Amino acid sequence: MIIENITMAEFKRHLKKTKTIIFPFGTVEEHGDHLPLNTDTLIIYEILKRLVKERNVFLAPPVYYGVCTTTSQHPGTIGITPETLRRLTYDIVRDAYKKGLRNFFLITGHGGGLHSSALRETAEILIEELRGIKIAVLCPYDILHKELSELADTQNDSHAGEIETSLVLSLAPELVQGRSKEDYPKLPRPFVVKDKTRYWRSGVWGNPAKASREKGDRAVTLIIKKIIGIIDQADTVPPAS
Ligand SMILES: [Zn+2]
Repeated sequence: MIIENITMAEFKRHLKKTKTIIFPFGTVEEHGDHLPLNTDTLIIYEILKRLVKERNVFLAPPVYYGVCTTTSQHPGTIGITPETLRRLTYDIVRDAYKKGLRNFFLITGHGGGLHSSALRETAEILIEELRGIKIAVLCPYDILHKELSELADTQNDSHAGEIETSLVLSLAPELVQGRSKEDYPKLPRPFVVKDKTRYWRSGVWGNPAKASREKGDRAVTLIIKKIIGIIDQADTVPPAS
């Protein structure tokens, strides 16, 4: 059930069948010169739209804004702070709880460290506060790191690289504009630097030239299967007391 398309009456009827809701999280963020700024949101929302045809759950509209760090200076990136993401996530889960939902899946298409930790921190607060809930936080690139790395020909493939480009080629090929050159960030870790573009102008981490629609199709199938497994696993997890 895709929430943005249904009526109040449909919501009420569907709530009798399921108490599970998925919240997708994305970003407005540079993805090189060849992928759109909504890449993270598009990938996760399109995949989840397919998934809800196979499972009886609610799918919330995506949260388009996320926490971007290494890409924060690049043209087109419009980010929010972890504080805002925590607050927003807290509010929407609590309100969905008031409307009768009990099982929450926060699924992010953006793998940033601060972004993911903001979601996990919020889940820790909510599990203390809301009785009877189950909550999971996940990012497909983390839970399928091994499988997706095997699918890629590029080692150390990441942001706007082979897999992300393949996913957009599979889900929205009309939005892919050629291919950016292979590149990798050269940030002087562990230092945190202000001028990030000095060390990573292209905003590409990997080799988009190795991307293909076929690899994207396979990645989509892998991700859907894995998330369905996690949704089904909720039956074995006790709700918060
Ligand atoms: Zn991305």
